[in-house]
Amino acid sequence: MAKKYRAYSSATLRSKYGTTEKKVRTFLKKYKLDGGANVIKIMLMPIFGVQLVKAFADYRLKVKDGIAPAYKFKKGKVGAFAWRVMRNSNSVSKHAYAIAIDFNFYDPNGYSASGKKGKVDYTKEFVKSMNAFGIWCGGDWTKPWDGMHFEYAPNSDFGGAKPYTPKGASKPSTGSNTSITGKTMYLTRNTNFRSSAKVGNNVIGKTRAKGTKVVSLSDKLTTASGYNWRKVKIGDKTGYVIDANLSTKKPK
Ligand SMILES: [Zn+2]
Repeated sequence: MAKKYRAYSSATLRSKYGTTEKKVRTFLKKYKLDGGANVIKIMLMPIFGVQLVKAFADYRLKVKDGIAPAYKFKKGKVGAFAWRVMRNSNSVSKHAYAIAIDFNFYDPNGYSASGKKGKVDYTKEFVKSMNAFGIWCGGDWTKPWDGMHFEYAPNSDFGGAKPYTPKGASKPSTGSNTSITGKTMYLTRNTNFRSSAKVGNNVIGKTRAKGTKVVSLSDKLTTASGYNWRKVKIGDKTGYVIDANLSTKKPK
């Protein structure tokens, strides 16, 4: 399938978020990115930040399953927001609206400042996790090749990139299968128990351990976030867990 690239247009960005650095800054929020090896905090436009956090969560599932190496951010070499609005030009850098991020810039293994094509320090699986959440890699461009650059373009067709399904997880129920509602299920991996069916600052207590007994209170809930959730009861608390981390069989 051919890849199509439809970024936010400069006109859209200007009308949504303004035309001055001061105005754009009022929209930015701080996001914590965890590549599995270390964590950085960075200011991003929320439309991009929430997706990038999900993309890293997806990538960490691959790290856990041993199919990709933990990604280590090189601190001080990750950049997102930079007010680079070109004068006398109709196009703006996606960095001016913090919907782009550069990993590992000015590094021998990253994209070189001279524009020379170089090596990158992330894997294909890393790019696939990004693509699954609408984040496009400049390493897939030819002109200019920009290996360190990732930007948010939610309307792109990434050739069917999908969020990762962890190994050993239960097959998600079909949605019409209500037979396991009300039944006991088990967590197949350490899992966050959440007060709503989304990732974010909504975790209830500690991470629940693999093997924890839960009672299924719903069918698989499909959300636009790319994850499927299930409403469950753990002890006397009701909340949500990622459906792919559940099985009717107790894990060994
Ligand atoms: Zn960039």
